[in-house]
Amino acid sequence: MNFNPAIDTQNLSSVKPIMELRNVSRTFMVSQGVFRGKKPLKAVNEVSLKVHRGEVLGLVGESGCGKTTLAMMLLGLLTPGQGEILIEDQAVSGWNLLEITSRIQPIFQDPYSSLNPRKTVGQSISLPLAIHKTVQKKDRRQLVEKMLEAVGLPGRFYNSYPNQLSGGQRQRVAIARALVMKPQIVICDEPTSALDVSVQSQILNLLLKLKNQLNLTYLFISHNLAVVEHLASRVAVMYLGRVVEEGGCERLFSKPLHPYTQALLKSVLLPEPGQGISNVNLGAGFPNPIDPPTGCTFHPRCPQVMDICRTQSPGSLSIEDGYVECHLYRKENKNYLN
Ligand code: SF4
Repeated sequence: MNFNPAIDTQNLSSVKPIMELRNVSRTFMVSQGVFRGKKPLKAVNEVSLKVHRGEVLGLVGESGCGKTTLAMMLLGLLTPGQGEILIEDQAVSGWNLLEITSRIQPIFQDPYSSLNPRKTVGQSISLPLAIHKTVQKKDRRQLVEKMLEAVGLPGRFYNSYPNQLSGGQRQRVAIARALVMKPQIVICDEPTSALDVSVQSQILNLLLKLKNQLNLTYLFISHNLAVVEHLASRVAVMYLGRVVEEGGCERLFSKPLHPYTQALLKSVLLPEPGQGISNVNLGAGFPNPIDPPTGCTFHPRCPQVMDICRTQSPGSLSIEDGYVECHLYRKENKNYLN
């Protein structure tokens, strides 16, 4: 059941996005070995996405599909090789890191490594305020204690060190640090996958509560489809650097169109908790991204592959609530969507 129904996914086309990616690509040169030189690896390949104010856009895909590279570009830690990222209609390409981080903040997977062990909780949470100089020094402690309260921690934790806290408490501190700057957009990169199962739902419910209280917008990156279904209003599915399907959460989970999305959802039904997308059972393994297949890059693994798929890239087809990249849905083929 989706717990974030505030967004009407059918009517999003008329709403201005708070964040937009237009044909964003990023290529890395990867060494092939001592005598073989370097080859390009397209980690993100012409991705276009819109994120609307107040929504949770889930981003799912197997390890190595480009999710984290995409997040790094949104956070200003990597520059796109091509394409544009816009925040409220303004291209961020000329912005410095301070401008970007005043609008976008991350919550990472591992609260053990994302907090400095030598800094107290109070120092960690107030650091962004000191860097951005948005709050006077004398007022910072009060604000930090308010943030601690908002994430469900007592004010006495102000002087504690990360090693004195549990994993769940550390992630609450990381959330407080991300939100103390009052960002508009939060990139949640697998924020619960390093935590005990018993703590995961508490953190997810906290994120949802804070989103609604503070009118935040989340890009929620996860390999756990059950978590995405719980939180997201829309979902984008990534495969080998491209978004191959994007649509409303309810439709995508009840009627997935792309054969890869269908396989991902089947993998959720396997009774092996915590395995998530790593269980995708598609015969052929994940292809080498340095040497991607021709045509539709999913074709060696696709149970519905056709001749055309081996030579021609399907490109993007608009559907009612988003888009899909698959030849099956072209006019001349059997699953044409009218
Ligand atoms: Fe499968 Fe062809 Fe669709 Fe690619 S384009 S997902 S190979 S049916």
